[in-house]
Amino acid sequence: MEKEYKTELLKVDRNNFDPACLLPAAGLLAAGELVAFPTETVYGLGGNAMDPGASQRIYAAKGRPSDNPLIVHISEKEELLKVGRDVPEIALRFAERFWPGPLTLIVKRAEIIPKTTTGGLDTVAVRLPSDEIARALIRLSGVYVAAPSANKSGRPSTTRAEHCMEDLDGRIPMVIDGGPVKIGLESTIVDCTNETTEDGVKKIKPLVLRPGYITLEKLREIEPATEYDPAVIARVKNENIKAKAPGMKYRHYAPKGAFVIYEGDADRVIARINEEVGRMKALGRKTAVLATEESKDFYDADIVVSLGRRNNEEEIAARLFDVLRSFDEMGAEAIFGECFETKGVGQAIMNRLMKAAGYNIVSCNDITGKK
Ligand code: AMP
Ligand code: MG
Repeated sequence: MEKEYKTELLKVDRNNFDPACLLPAAGLLAAGELVAFPTETVYGLGGNAMDPGASQRIYAAKGRPSDNPLIVHISEKEELLKVGRDVPEIALRFAERFWPGPLTLIVKRAEIIPKTTTGGLDTVAVRLPSDEIARALIRLSGVYVAAPSANKSGRPSTTRAEHCMEDLDGRIPMVIDGGPVKIGLESTIVDCTNETTEDGVKKIKPLVLRPGYITLEKLREIEPATEYDPAVIARVKNENIKAKAPGMKYRHYAPKGAFVIYEGDADRVIARINEEVGRMKALGRKTAVLATEESKDFYDADIVVSLGRRNNEEEIAARLFDVLRSFDEMGAEAIFGECFETKGVGQAIMNRLMKAAGYNIVSCNDITGKK
């Protein structure tokens, strides 16, 4: 039977806090219990990564399939060598450049991390967050902290403590409220175990399994051979592309209403979405559009929400999950969204949108290529 908790909300002012206020939370982690806490990317649902029981509790609280591995959070760079084994030089270079920060590195798993935490894999995903509350909590707990996003499996990730309460109230003993997160999209994941042979020499070719705030362009400044995994850039859900990150194969971030995204020239997208909105309204459905500052005034839907200005990808990223959740609150039944360019952080935004829409993408440009 599931254990019922009276979930405590611990408010922490990130600009002025005494780490000692985190001791009750750290104590819960040390005792094998779960705590939701802020990071710079999204809120995490933490548990002791070395304790198989704690990992099982994470899977149960989220309703997450247990073959979907958890990211292990550390508080010092050197700990990468404790949770990983035969860590390649390239992983150390990435860590040196981007840690603490929104980058997760996949390396071979050390014995200290049980397979329950890694979804049965012999590799482990590791991250050193830059968020001061997260780092202080991990340090004080005295354990490495396995932490997936603090949402119910399948729902948009949580970027505020209120969202964690929505999904996890009664299922875990504590949520730390550190205010809204900075980035709003999950970390970039780079697989540093992918070996290739060039001219008879073995070499690691890093693969981006999940795009994020640390872009491919930035990673290539450290290692020019870095590539996207084919599943990341695929525009269709292709069952033939084997998912390297098991999480890639599950439905994600989905709002409750039917969600379709439209790509093409702005005027064509607006016209096409308005056509669909009209059709859905005639059927009595509550319609919503995920728009931008530039387009929001042109839509006829019941609910129109702007993600921000098109050229401000960071603002769009930070608001995306909030807005997807707000559609559920407002009871949106048919949701239409615009697409974004796949450069820089835009790749991460499109990756989350495509998953949220279950790869339902409609092209609005003329197939002859005419404008
Ligand atoms: P979340 O914790 O919800 O941000 O999701 C974690 C993501 O990291 C999932 O998509 C996992 O599949 C991926 N991941 C974690 N560990 C590994 C690993 N050892 N190999 C490949 N992907 C991993
Ligand atoms: Mg997640």
